Amino acid sequence: MQMQKNPKRRGLLLVISSPSGVGKTSIVKQLMSLDSELTMSVSATTRPKREGEVDGKDYHFMDEATFQARLQEGAFIEHAKVYGNYYGTPRQFVFDQLDQGLDVVFDIDWQGTQQLAQVARQDLVSIFVLPPSLDELEKRLRGRGLDTQEVIEKRLAQTASELSHWAEYDYVVINDNLEKTVLRVQNILNSERLKRIRQTDLTDFVRGLASQC
Ligand code: 5GP
Repeated sequence: MQMQKNPKRRGLLLVISSPSGVGKTSIVKQLMSLDSELTMSVSATTRPKREGEVDGKDYHFMDEATFQARLQEGAFIEHAKVYGNYYGTPRQFVFDQLDQGLDVVFDIDWQGTQQLAQVARQDLVSIFVLPPSLDELEKRLRGRGLDTQEVIEKRLAQTASELSHWAEYDYVVINDNLEKTVLRVQNILNSERLKRIRQTDLTDFVRGLASQC
């Protein structure tokens, strides 16, 4: 009997959103280190670089004029103003990765998620991450020491409005423990990869099997 190669799969867009301080960056970092078929979408932003952030790795940092010029050129698949700064997802990168059979992870807000849903609903898998409590969220935001007091207050003030979008997502996960949360996200990802519509070579594969019966 001839061996069949594994059926190929259509790449998916995995969006992870949450209010600021819920731990999304840590979740995504862990997830990326555990899964070689995932690649991260690096957004463009007009936000000032934080200490330790690397241009081109954490974000493509740019001034507002450059951002607006890129936007006019149609370089972003989605964009939004979040906490007073502009953010956008480079279009070309996403399509290049999907072409290579990779899944792309996006750390973007609800506005960007809605825009991605308009252009690629079938390929989109969206997860909203909730904090275990508001006290915990505030502790994390203040404790990470990344932002000024003013920025932290601004982000906290928007928490309720960010939280209100939870029901627009396919999945909701409470980040009460990082390892457990990453495991839950991996479970979602692995199940979504097995969806019949994503296994694009399945028809030929089954035909091949049937022909050998
Ligand atoms: P931060 O400034 O803390 O890195 O990100 C602030 C917020 O902007 C987060 O909620 C993050 O998910 C969101 N964000 C980051 N990049 C993008 C993007 O390209 N598009 C949209 N819509 N939101 C983004």
